[in-house]
Amino acid sequence: MNIGPTRRHVIAGLAASSLILPASAQTVSARLLVVGGGFGGMIAARRLKSLLPSASVQLIEPRSVYHACPFSNLVVAGERPLSAQAFGYDVLGDEGVEHIRAAAVDVDPSAQTVSLDNGNTLQYDKLVLSPGVDIRWNALEGYDETVAEIMPHAWKAGTQTTLLKQQLAGMDDGGLVVMSVPAAPYRCPPGPYERASLIAHFLKTHKPKSRLIVLDSKDSFSKKPLFQEAWASHYPDHLEWRGLSNDGRVGRVIASEMTLETDFESFRAAVANVIPPQKAAMIAERAGVADRSGWCPVNALNFESTLQANIHVIGDANIVSPMPKSAFSANLQGKLCALQIARSLSGLSVEPTTLLNTCYSYTTPDEAISVVGVYRNKTDEFSSVPGAGGISPMDAGAEIRGQEALQAQDWFRAITGETFG
Ligand code: FAD
Repeated sequence: MNIGPTRRHVIAGLAASSLILPASAQTVSARLLVVGGGFGGMIAARRLKSLLPSASVQLIEPRSVYHACPFSNLVVAGERPLSAQAFGYDVLGDEGVEHIRAAAVDVDPSAQTVSLDNGNTLQYDKLVLSPGVDIRWNALEGYDETVAEIMPHAWKAGTQTTLLKQQLAGMDDGGLVVMSVPAAPYRCPPGPYERASLIAHFLKTHKPKSRLIVLDSKDSFSKKPLFQEAWASHYPDHLEWRGLSNDGRVGRVIASEMTLETDFESFRAAVANVIPPQKAAMIAERAGVADRSGWCPVNALNFESTLQANIHVIGDANIVSPMPKSAFSANLQGKLCALQIARSLSGLSVEPTTLLNTCYSYTTPDEAISVVGVYRNKTDEFSSVPGAGGISPMDAGAEIRGQEALQAQDWFRAITGETFG
């Protein structure tokens, strides 16, 4: 039985790699650029500097404060302040990584340069991209940037999270909340269902005459039996989920009428949370590392783009299925990518290893469930290790679910501490 991983799993994810570096790594000089100071890019930049202390490492990130998405569903439900999601970049300077406060606007892979929105151009020997996702505006008819201010996605933490929280808090008791969930792939596969659970908890507690309906573009999803068990037990009167085969796919939104349309029905919402289709963030396209799917194919061993040499793509932007797009994955990929770059620059070969992912999801503010996956990248492709990993047991009871919620907190502290602390 697996009742959920703990801090040790974060470390185990690293320890899974037996890859080492020669002493000569200390004197390697190279220009290393990282774009994106989120879960993937931040740890990649710090690891590159610690593994290759003589190299120049610059992290390009326009923001001075990063808002983490994990645990942001608790903020939406009023169970946690947004300030608990905020992290800074001060540690970079202490460790010799230069924080370039600008956005990357273009990449020239043949000249090996990155242009910034402040007019500067930076040269690289190796470039790591960890820019996260962008919304595919208008891929869902009627959903553009203006509409996101009326029907928030809250799929990037910060002002969108606050907007959705305020709309829920300000809604009349008896109003209908409608959530739209896209087809895969998207950032954080179980995230919509955790959010549905916590919004339902909010309604049950604060707006008991209100209801949430989740309109889903697919029939199955991560931890589905566990979520459905929790919903039947906690929210029978407050949460309804409709899958693709039950007319669940939203095909159009009409913001002026607060309406979401499926093939056969129209839902008028008091609050609409539209989680739209996504793609790798814009800079991946500019660098020529995104394919027609909108995501970035990579070499499974070192995350180097299969489309452009010397550019590595980690985190949500890449294609590493069956690894999910999660902060846990991005963090581990950042470490492994840094190690493989350090090995290459030290004259060593790129070697396979074992990777891990854990996703916790809250079903109430005090109870959580989890899934652990173990992956191999031996054949230049990712695959799940048969028989490894695990999932929370069904029928576990409040005590075990409560322990998992505590472990989730431990995980959040560990990963944000390691990444930003
Ligand atoms: P990000 O963390 O998004 O970082 C990207 C960074 O790049 C940003 O800081 C951005 O400003 C910067 N950037 C983008 N473009 C440029 C540019 N052109 N120039 C410079 N900088 C740029 N994962 C979990 O493991 N566990 C969870 O419980 C969990 N819960 C979640 C709940 C929700 C509601 C959501 C939405 C996500 C959740 N996730 C969770 C997923 C997790 O947040 C992402 O997988 C993770 O943030 C991906 O890291 P990343 O480095 O790829 O991208």
